Amino acid sequence: MKKKMSVIVPSYNEEKAIPYFYEEITKISQKMSYLDFEYIFVDDGSRDDTLKVVKEYAKKDKKVKFISFSRNFGKEGAILAGLEYAKGDYLTIMDADLQDPPYLLEDMYNLIVNDGYDCVATRRVTRKGEPPIRSFFARCFYKIINKLSNIEMVDGARDYRLMTRKVADAIISMKEYNRYSKGIFSFVGFRTKWLEYENIERVAGETKWSFWKLFIYALEGITAFSTAPLVFSAILGIVFCILSFIMIVVIISRTLIFGDPVSGWPSLVCIIFLMSGIQLFSIGIIGQYLAKTYLETKKRPVYIIRETDEK
Ligand code: UDP
Ligand code: MG
Repeated sequence: MKKKMSVIVPSYNEEKAIPYFYEEITKISQKMSYLDFEYIFVDDGSRDDTLKVVKEYAKKDKKVKFISFSRNFGKEGAILAGLEYAKGDYLTIMDADLQDPPYLLEDMYNLIVNDGYDCVATRRVTRKGEPPIRSFFARCFYKIINKLSNIEMVDGARDYRLMTRKVADAIISMKEYNRYSKGIFSFVGFRTKWLEYENIERVAGETKWSFWKLFIYALEGITAFSTAPLVFSAILGIVFCILSFIMIVVIISRTLIFGDPVSGWPSLVCIIFLMSGIQLFSIGIIGQYLAKTYLETKKRPVYIIRETDEK
């Protein structure tokens, strides 16, 4: 019996990219005909004709499977749905825009089969074609998160990876609502080989990530995999307590020695502003974690399926 390979393709408004993708992946599956392929397109509530395009392919090619969400749930939800649905012995997650080059798949497969890896992941070593400001912030983010979290996040890591069934099951077993894939992949561990490649620009359509969205995503990554900000605000509190204690002692002694001329109103206002700023900041950090906890306890589904070809 041939082993099965599941290719999971999160697709949100990708009607233009899917035909290119289908063509490429078909070539690869013909080349790797010793495996039984299935392509799972996860339509993440697209507003364009993504689902229609996928259905056309599904009619012609029984390798093509699809899941369609009731609305846009985000790529994390799409990845989870694909992993849960897939029946493969080997599973891979690939973007529909060909930024995750399918030709790497054969190398990845060989590494798993011959070299005993459980997972082969990819990272881009260049950020060609990306706005410089975005690259700058991305670099900063990886520096910060790796300091804050025990889990290693690799700069430039893509979601594109090939994994064995065991790894996929481990990922599925992580039932959190606030899913941050890069963290989840590192968290489950296993023997992972990293492949590097140069950034490739998307084949058609446009990126779904604005700067602001990426920023929020970065904060999510930090709150999902590190509690260091909480420690930070606690330390800040302690430092300011000590500082104010010293100030009290200084001011009392000064008053006792030099008397009490009324002055220093502007400095007082500055201090009040600073203190309340820091307090709000700390409460904000706590609030972030509380909000995440709140959402986790609701146990809402990560995605809702509207339509699929699975009987
Ligand atoms: N995607 C998705 N849901 C979303 C946003 C994106 O399924 O809400 C998919 C998208 O169709 C693509 C992949 O995730 O296949 C990566 O998205 P994109 O190319 O916009 O991100 P980038 O490559 O620029 O990081
Ligand atoms: Mg892309």
